[in-house]
Amino acid sequence: MIKPEAMAAGHAGKILDLILSKGFKLVALKYTRLSEGEAGQFYEVHKERPFYGELVNYMASGPILAAILEKDDAVQDFRALIGATDPAEAAEGTIRKRFAESKAKNAVHGSDSDANAAIEGAFFFSTREQY
Ligand code: ADP
Ligand code: MG
Repeated sequence: MIKPEAMAAGHAGKILDLILSKGFKLVALKYTRLSEGEAGQFYEVHKERPFYGELVNYMASGPILAAILEKDDAVQDFRALIGATDPAEAAEGTIRKRFAESKAKNAVHGSDSDANAAIEGAFFFSTREQY
């Protein structure tokens, strides 16, 4: 996902270009907006964390771009491309280093495992929307 603050700042094109230039293929793409209920469901694993309420609020605060990406070692390579959760700790050249505002408003989401990528992909896309 490209998160609401990065969308509002007009970074979507540059972020997508960077992702595609690193060899990720688009399987699905959607411009949409999460309700608070949907954002809460998407981030359910973080329910007990102190920042959960803030996270849900923020993720529902504006439209996002959701995508399914394909590549060998996609999860690992995408996590490397986006960088650490906190942009202050993200490596030079990573998406979060370049585009994130803060640890909370950190420009992009990336799945943390193949299993979660499948769950998160199905959250946004029907099979008819995946090619
Ligand atoms: P990542 O997105 O790097 O996988 P996490 O899964 O730990 O990071 O957290 C999910 C999202 O919750 C982060 O991308 C960020 O938007 C938000 N978040 C994480 N930690 C904090 C924090 N300490 N304070 C505020 N928001 C946070
Ligand atoms: Mg995570």
